[in-house]
Order: sequence, then structure tokens, then C-alpha cells
Amino acid sequence: MGVYLAEYVWLDGYKPLPRFRSKTRVVNNGDEPPVWGFDGSSTEQAPGEHSDCVLQPVYWCTDPFRGDPHKLVMCEVMHPDGSAHPSNTRAKCREVYERFKHHEPWFGMEQEYTYFNGFLPLGWPVNGFPAPQGMYYCGVGADIAFGREYAERHLELCVNAGIGITGTNAAVMPGQWEFQIFAKDPLTVGDQMWLARWILERLVEPDGIHISYHPKPMKGDWNGAGCHTNFSTKEMRENYNAILTACEALSKKHDTHIANYGADIEQRLTGKHETCSYKEYKYGVSDRGASVRIPWQVKRDGRGYIEDRRPNANIDPYVVSCLMVETICTALEEA
Ligand code: ADP
Ligand code: MN
Ligand code: MN
Repeated sequence: MGVYLAEYVWLDGYKPLPRFRSKTRVVNNGDEPPVWGFDGSSTEQAPGEHSDCVLQPVYWCTDPFRGDPHKLVMCEVMHPDGSAHPSNTRAKCREVYERFKHHEPWFGMEQEYTYFNGFLPLGWPVNGFPAPQGMYYCGVGADIAFGREYAERHLELCVNAGIGITGTNAAVMPGQWEFQIFAKDPLTVGDQMWLARWILERLVEPDGIHISYHPKPMKGDWNGAGCHTNFSTKEMRENYNAILTACEALSKKHDTHIANYGADIEQRLTGKHETCSYKEYKYGVSDRGASVRIPWQVKRDGRGYIEDRRPNANIDPYVVSCLMVETICTALEEA
């Protein structure tokens, strides 16, 4: 017998960006994490007189802090009557995925983020500025790479948890890093991305460091933080026409996608700093100034995936994965 600790993780009702909430439940070994509840009046999810919200476990993995057999449990927030709470964006993603499952949509999300110590990113002097950006991306050295110990530890924790993390690297702005999550459906990529973010925030907490997903954490001549989303369907992995259909489909829905690709996106998609302005849409091979990039090897092989460079670091991954499936799979069916 014995027990394990289940850390139930969910998203609250704060806007435009939900925050994490989590609490621990002791569960008997051999039992799956049961349905649970919480006080929605403390999370902007319910009025005081009808405060009960339901936690429906939907995905779980090893808790890398407490170790096996303890678990992290990602939950959907439901009403007591079983319907999805309005803050539950995963519910819509579930429906859309059900409709387009046969396209076998795959995702690789590149999460950029910035380590902050108080009001300043790691590595920033209290007075003035670090040297202009240029040598920080994938760099090494005490004057270049700020936060590597955390990024390294985060990678290890995600691997130990069983999350599909595919890599990590220092980004263009000092104090800014990236990790990538790959999954073969829109729900799992969202579940794993949220838990990977939770692990990151939990990791730096004891040192008084926090994580910013702001798309433009430092004003001025510094890169913003995005969440490039790489996407393919079975058809796109087989032929180039499907790649072009996908790029064209995104063009027709540009405004809808921009509206769902994270708060304050205008601050980041300026047309500078490896972005295309949010006011226009273009796609191109190897073009990091395009909205959507076709990687060079995809052009060479005549099949593969595309990279949507527009999503902000502060996206809700369920919203973005769902929208990409809906827009692109609809167009593939009409082509
Ligand atoms: P970049 O060159 O833009 O920095 P990265 O290597 O950081 O690219 O991220 C690319 C991501 O795309 C990885 O997570 C990778 O697993 C993912 N990826 C690779 N092939 C596919 C595919 N066919 N469909 C969706 N995602 C893919
Ligand atoms: Mn990358
Ligand atoms: Mn990229």
C-alpha cells in the first residue's frame, strides 16, 4: 500500500494571463488521481455564494521535485454540473482535436522567457545596460550567459518528469532563454508546456527569482520573447503542396491568429528584432523576418513542417494549438 503525493495544477481566471494555482493531495498507491475541487471565489472563477469549482485530472507525470512515485497532475476546471468553466480553454481544444484527429497534427513549441531578479533580468547591471545584444544567443561565459544553471536544471527536471522537452538554449537578449516542447497532438503539447512552465517557476522560487513571459520585457533595442510554434499534419509531412496550403490558410486568418497569439503582441511584432510586423503577413523559406518560416530542409525535401513565428511567449498553448489545427486542417480539407 502506501501513498503518493499528487500536486494538482490548474489555471485561474485572471486576465489576460491566467496564473498557476496548485495544491497537494495524498493519494493511495495504485489509485489514479481522483476528481477534486477548490474555492473558485479565491481565483476569479466563481462568486462567493457558488464558490465550488471542480478539478478534473487530464494529464499526469512524475513530480520531478518530489521524485517517483509522486505526481504532477494537470487539471481542467469544470462547473459542478460537469460543464467546462469559461476559463477552461483546453475544453475547446478537445472538441477541435476530435474533429481533426485524422490529420495527425504535431507541434513543437519554442518557449522563450526571461529570468528576473526583482525588476531586472539576470545579468543586468543595476545602473545602466549590458553590452548590446549580438553575442548572447547560444553563448557561453560569465559575461554572456546568465541563468544557465537554472536552464540546465529545468531541462533535467522535465526529462525526469517524462515531459517531451527537446532542447534548451540561451536567447538573443541577456537573461533570456528558450526551451522546446514537442508532442503529437494539440492537447499534450499544451499540458506539457503548462507543466514545464510550472516546473520552471517552482525551480527558481527558493532563490527569489521569477520568470517573465512578457513579450517585450525590456523596452528598446532588445529582442522580445516569443513562442514560435512549429506545426505539421500527416499530409504536410508527405507533400509540399500541403505546406503551401497551410501557409496560405494562415494568411486568410491573420487577424484572428494575431488576436489569439498573446497580449501586447504589437509591442513585439514590430518588424524589427527578427519579426514581421503584426500588420502584415508573409511567409518564406528560411526567412526569420517572415510571419511564417518554411525551414530550408523542408523546401529541399519537399515535405515537413512550418514555423509560425508570431505567437508571443505569453500565449495560452491550448488556444494556439487549437487555432492552428482549426485553420490549417479546414483548408487542407477544402483544397
Ligand atoms: P529554431 O531553428 O526555430 O530555433 P528549434 O530547434 O528551437 O527551431 O525548434 C523546432 C521545434 O520543432 C522542435 O521542438 C522540434 O521537435 C519541432 N519539430 C520538428 N519537426 C516537426 C514536425 N514535423 N512537426 C512539428 N514540429 C516539429
Ligand atoms: Mn529555437
Ligand atoms: Mn524558432
